[in-house]
Amino acid sequence: MQPSSPTPANVTIGILALQGAFAEHQVMLQKASLKRRVVIVLVRQQEDLDKCDALIIPGGESTTIALLARLAGLLEPMREFLKTKPVWGTCAGAILLSRWVEGAKKGGQELLGGISVTIERNGFGSQVESFEAPLEVEGLRESNRPFHGVFIRAPVVIGLNPSPTDPPIQIISRISPSLLPASQTVVPLDEDDTDPRDPRTIVALRQGLHLLTTFHPELTKDDRFHEYFVRECVLPTITSRSSSPA
Ligand code: GLN
Repeated sequence: MQPSSPTPANVTIGILALQGAFAEHQVMLQKASLKRRVVIVLVRQQEDLDKCDALIIPGGESTTIALLARLAGLLEPMREFLKTKPVWGTCAGAILLSRWVEGAKKGGQELLGGISVTIERNGFGSQVESFEAPLEVEGLRESNRPFHGVFIRAPVVIGLNPSPTDPPIQIISRISPSLLPASQTVVPLDEDDTDPRDPRTIVALRQGLHLLTTFHPELTKDDRFHEYFVRECVLPTITSRSSSPA
């Protein structure tokens, strides 16, 4: 009889489930082709978060999510969580994950601040200016096949402001300005190639453990972004934790 190799431990991924497209992320993670078995936890209180190896913050309405997270006593626990564990923010989740926001609701809004960028809420326009566009994404499985980007009242990254001690920011996708709706006012449409230092066409980036996308991969039928998050952001932290001395 062959000796059986040890079964790799499950990975537990939390999805913040207070408001927005959390159910869509859940469906996508359930059907994604992943190398490890993933246990999904819908996070509504700190006990849920405590079980997780990683967290996804969905799209929705960032001010509402922040308010509900404050009421659930989750803001501080999530700020602690992201110091050691990967977090992926999509759209409203990307706003929450940013360190600074422009166009915040009157009276301000609370952020988690895991990624040192400035983001402009609704920067690509209002609900009626929502749009879809093919995206090239570095590191995605079959990366020469474009990923269908769904942008709904999407935020725009307007500044990369890492401090010297922050991990570097890695840009993994930019949108071509020619694919943006004419009504949006943030990115100049007459420039085919924006200045490479210009952040406004960035739609997906990584910093340290974290991933930020200004669009909604969970609203497509394409599991490649969920697979990417697990493979690139989550599994390396699990492996390094299980191999570090006790
Ligand atoms: N504009 C929304 C906000 O400020 C985000 C929209 C979305 O997640 N689709 O939270």
